[in-house]
Amino acid sequence: MTAKVIDGKAFAANVRAQVAEHVAKLKADKGITPGLAVVLVGEDPASKVYVKNKHASTIEVGMESFEHRLPAETSEADLLALIDRLNADPAVHGILVQLPLPKHLDSELVINRIDPAKDVDGFHISNVGLLGTGQKSMVPCTPLGCLMMLRDHHGSLAGMNAVVVGRSNIVGKPMAQLLLGDSCTVTIAHSRTKDLAEVCKRADILVAAVGRPEMITGDMVKPGATVIDVGINRIERDGKAKLVGDVHYDSAAAVAGAITPVPGGVGPMTIACLLANTLTACCRANGLAEPKGLTA
Ligand code: NDP
Repeated sequence: MTAKVIDGKAFAANVRAQVAEHVAKLKADKGITPGLAVVLVGEDPASKVYVKNKHASTIEVGMESFEHRLPAETSEADLLALIDRLNADPAVHGILVQLPLPKHLDSELVINRIDPAKDVDGFHISNVGLLGTGQKSMVPCTPLGCLMMLRDHHGSLAGMNAVVVGRSNIVGKPMAQLLLGDSCTVTIAHSRTKDLAEVCKRADILVAAVGRPEMITGDMVKPGATVIDVGINRIERDGKAKLVGDVHYDSAAAVAGAITPVPGGVGPMTIACLLANTLTACCRANGLAEPKGLTA
């Protein structure tokens, strides 16, 4: 079997187009422009690229983008004061603090200072709790993107066996919660899981969020399964820099029913879902109906 390739790039373009359409309507009908504030502390090169891309994508869908670039030595008090100002600013519907923060800053304290209603990354402890108890929350962008692609491919996910490899707070755990919310039978695997291959082989839906290049190989995949590869790993092969996932693409694609490639799978969905979350936050803040198909 050769797997259907789930084209995350095309899917994300479609999500961004839907967001742009909603934004245009909000502006025209209600005079409201959704606004996203992104806070970057320090000079981490990868973070600077992410923030630049987020800014460009926000503008592209017609939203307001508020960028706050602070020096690496910014004090915790100053950062918290900025978050307080953004929380109080009615033009700001979403707030994202780019992680990782410099070592002297307490990420948990900073993230939990964001108004949960504006926490478009879905990392605030209130949103984690709301998601865990099946209530309306802001959902972390990467797992939300995976869920959207899975729903699009399968329709209902009810009753499917889902295995999530990885238990991080930003990907693995919220992914598992979302799959449970869609009535999958969910297993979370991690570095202490015994016989990972056997566990993975039970999965109708296999999500890899590990951070280990090409660790999930075709012999670990159930024939016909849907494989979602969250991993982004930079490796060198044949003297060239290459981006690979946590899944060994060729061997897995030979067995799976459907698979997301790296690049061009989950990655593009993350920013698209950040925009979707900002739109959702804006609609909620204004007591308007949430955009259909763009939330969990
Ligand atoms: P973390 O490092 O926070 O978590 C990795 C998880 O993988 C841990 O739970 C760890 O288990 C588990 N793990 C490590 N080694 C093994 C192993 N040998 N067998 C089974 N499980 C193992 O990573 P993240 O969740 O932040 O990210 C995972 C991947 O997703 C990375 O490649 C990252 O770059 C990518 N990513 C991609 C995004 C996108 O937009 N596409 C967004 C975010 C992340 P344990 O808890 O036991 O240590």
